[in-house]
Amino acid sequence: MTDDLETPRRPTPGELTFTSPRRSKPPRHLADMTTADRREAVTALGLPAFRADQVSRHYFHRLSADPTEWTDVPAAQREQLAHALTPTLMTPVRELTADRGTTRKTLWRLHDGSLVESVLMRYPDRVTMCVSSQAGCGMNCPFCATGQAGLTRNMSTGEIVEQVVSGARQLAAGDVPGGPGRVSNVVFMGMGEPLANYKAVIGALHRFVDPSPAGLGMSARGITVSTVGLVPRIRELAAEGLPVTLAVSLHAPDDELRDTLVPVNTRWKVSEVLDAAWEYARTTKRRVSIEYALIKDINDQAWRADLLAKRLRGKLVHVNLIPLNPTPGSKWTASRPEDEREFVRRLEAGGIAVTVRDTRGREIDGACGQLAAAE
Ligand code: SAH
Repeated sequence: MTDDLETPRRPTPGELTFTSPRRSKPPRHLADMTTADRREAVTALGLPAFRADQVSRHYFHRLSADPTEWTDVPAAQREQLAHALTPTLMTPVRELTADRGTTRKTLWRLHDGSLVESVLMRYPDRVTMCVSSQAGCGMNCPFCATGQAGLTRNMSTGEIVEQVVSGARQLAAGDVPGGPGRVSNVVFMGMGEPLANYKAVIGALHRFVDPSPAGLGMSARGITVSTVGLVPRIRELAAEGLPVTLAVSLHAPDDELRDTLVPVNTRWKVSEVLDAAWEYARTTKRRVSIEYALIKDINDQAWRADLLAKRLRGKLVHVNLIPLNPTPGSKWTASRPEDEREFVRRLEAGGIAVTVRDTRGREIDGACGQLAAAE
């Protein structure tokens, strides 16, 4: 079903796309709806409103989208309810595993043929789902595979949520080595710029934290929204009363370099993005995470580490250094180990909390749209 899907034009360097091209809407799913809307959808079918809660509980609590398992619902109503509340939103195209099955990446095909990815990562103490919020991305960061491919379309709340529910299902079924488990963390670090698809992402955040039958009942502390730095949206997110963790993809402490690495910097400068981040930390009392991909001889100089430390000093902040995962054909590569060590040392000397991200799933193109790009 790829008939209504045009491949987006590849963006020219620095070009930004904030609005999603108009496309046929994905089917409406109960995860797109509030509890009240689900009841209304069910009464519109001439069925009692409480059926909506039953089906919601099957979806979010028992993680079942298979109507034959809904034994508390009369058999004659199951198909009708499934059609109205849990239509198929996405089908797996490929699943790749690494780290002895504890890292699992899924390439999904959406109803209109768009491709997106999600990754499940199991650690000894937690399970993190890395989810996509858009098919493609309009932010055009030159080191990112997704950014290079352009924006296909925004994802719906249901499509974002379904990625997590699908991972939760695999875990509950014991399909992931380590025994049955639960998703404890969600990071919006798959494809897309979550704050450019604000409304759908806020809906997904509610479904993640709201208790069953409204949602999955996760802790907001385990959820991270990662952004290139859409300043007005960061301020809006701070006011939502959802104390999720904010991650800012900084990648450079100075405007001159950041204008190239993160083109949206031509709209909102480093100082504006950081001011919004500090306001976020003040409002939510949550430590902000600064993402910094270390690129050899581009942004990994000792003076940039010092400048970064200076700009972050005294703030409720943590730096997450990511060794660059080179995209095919790119002239850029990860920093030399000694440069990475010196970068860490200087940040620490400046009093900044810093970690270097592990490179899980590298052999399965775990990073950033590379699987969809290869399709
Ligand atoms: N649009 C959001 C989410 C994107 S992906 C954002 O920009 O924050 C999550 C992180 O991976 C971002 O920090 C992004 O800059 C980084 N990233 C993208 N491509 C990468 C690559 N090839 N190597 C390392 N990190 C990369």
